[in-house]
Amino acid sequence: MGSTSVAIVQTGPRKLEAREFPLPEIGAEDALLKLEVCGICGSDYEQYEGAMGVSYPVIPGHEPLGIIDKIGALAAKRWGVAEGDRVAVEVLLPCGFCTQCLSGAYRLCMGKGRMSAYGYTPIDVKPALWGGYAQYMYLDPHTVLHKVSKSVAPELAVLFNPLGAGIRWAVQLPGTNIGDTVAILGPGQRGLASVIACREAGAGKIIVTGLARDRHKLALAAEFGATHTIDVESQDPVQAVREITGDKGADVVVDVTSYSPAAVPQAIDMARRGGTVVLAGVKTRPVKELLSDKIIFKELRMQGALGVDFRGYEPAIRIIESGRYPLEKMHTRTMPLLEAERAINLLAGKVAGEEAIHIALKPY
Ligand SMILES: [Zn+2]
Ligand SMILES: [Zn+2]
Repeated sequence: MGSTSVAIVQTGPRKLEAREFPLPEIGAEDALLKLEVCGICGSDYEQYEGAMGVSYPVIPGHEPLGIIDKIGALAAKRWGVAEGDRVAVEVLLPCGFCTQCLSGAYRLCMGKGRMSAYGYTPIDVKPALWGGYAQYMYLDPHTVLHKVSKSVAPELAVLFNPLGAGIRWAVQLPGTNIGDTVAILGPGQRGLASVIACREAGAGKIIVTGLARDRHKLALAAEFGATHTIDVESQDPVQAVREITGDKGADVVVDVTSYSPAAVPQAIDMARRGGTVVLAGVKTRPVKELLSDKIIFKELRMQGALGVDFRGYEPAIRIIESGRYPLEKMHTRTMPLLEAERAINLLAGKVAGEEAIHIALKPY
C-alpha cells in the first residue's frame, strides 16, 4: 500500500476537486478501509447541490464498500473481521451511549452533539478521510459494518444501501405482511429495492408508479416482482390504485420520489382506511395542497423514514449474496472516482440523453 490516498473533496456547492491525503496511523480500536467502490444515490446529488447543510471542505461518499487494509486488535475483535475481509460500512457513526443508541434507534443518535457520519464529516476533523469518494477511508471506533462475501461483484455488493432502504422503508417500518397491497411511488433505485423487499415479505399486489421516461425502470420493477406499473403521465395514479384494489386503496404506500411534493397528497389518497404511508423521498420544499383531515378521517399512520440500520442491511446483504435477483440489471455503470461530478449528474438525470438507475464510483 502507498502512504497517501487520493480523495474527491467538496469545497462548496457544485465544487469538487481531487486532493491527496496522508494515510492515518491505525491504533487498537480503529482501521483503514481500502475502497473497492462507493455507491451513489439521490442524496449525493442533494449534497453536491449544497442542500444537505454540510460543512466544507468535506469528502462525500456515504455508501462505501471495501477491504479491511489495516485493523487494530480491539477493532478486529469487536467487529469480527480481519485484514483482507470485505465489509459494507454503514453511514452513521453512533455514540453507543445515548438514549437513542441504547434503545436501538442509533440512526437518530445525537450523542456527540450532532449527527456524525461518513461522507458528511469535514476534513478538518482528523484524520480527514471520512468519505467514500477516495482510495482509502478511515474507520472510526464507532463504525458499524457488515462482512460481505467476496463472491459477489463489488458494484452489486454495494447495492446493500438501496436494498437495505427498501427492506426498512417498504417492509419493516410499515409492517408489510403476506398478501398486502403496497403502492411504491418512484421507480428509482429505492423504489426497485422496495419491490424486491415487498416480494420477499410476501406482499400480494405490488404497484409501482413512474414517469413516461421511466419506462425501462418500470419494466425492471415488473421483472423484480411488481404486479402493476403505472405511468403517471398517461394515467391518474390515485384512480389507477383504486381500480387495482377494488376501490379499497393500498395497505401500504411508500413515497420514494425526490423533489416531488405532489406525491405526498397522492400517497394519502392512495392509502386505504387505516393504512400506512411511508415518506422517504426528500422534497426540499413545502408540500402544498395537503389536506391533513384526510389523515384523520382515514386514520392513516404517517411514517417518516430516514436511513437504514443493522436490521435492514443484514437481510439486504444476504439477498445480494443469494443471487436470487438479477441485480446487475439495476446497476447501470461503474465510473472512475475522478469522474464523480459527471456520475452524480448522470444519476440525477441531468445529462441529456442518458438515464441511470445506479452508479458506483471506483477509485482505481
Ligand atoms: Zn445514499
Ligand atoms: Zn448515541
